[in-house]
Amino acid sequence: MKRAAKGLGMRHPKFTVRCPNCLSKIPVEKGSLLTVCEKCGIKYRICWPTPSQPMIRGLAAPLKQEEKRSHAKADGK
Ligand SMILES: [Zn+2]
Repeated sequence: MKRAAKGLGMRHPKFTVRCPNCLSKIPVEKGSLLTVCEKCGIKYRICWPTPSQPMIRGLAAPLKQEEKRSHAKADGK
């Protein structure tokens, strides 16, 4: 029976970025291009200048466009 070293599992690195809004650390999965601040609920785009260092590239807010679209649809006569 194999035991996963849960308590000792410090091997895999955890990546974090700092939320520019609330300054709390946001965990980022390796290679992920999006992350969400749990405090603010803001979505950020992530870029990777190096494979071990994520950086916030900017806001990711695709939802507003969808809102606009449906609004335009309802408005179009
Ligand atoms: Zn935040």
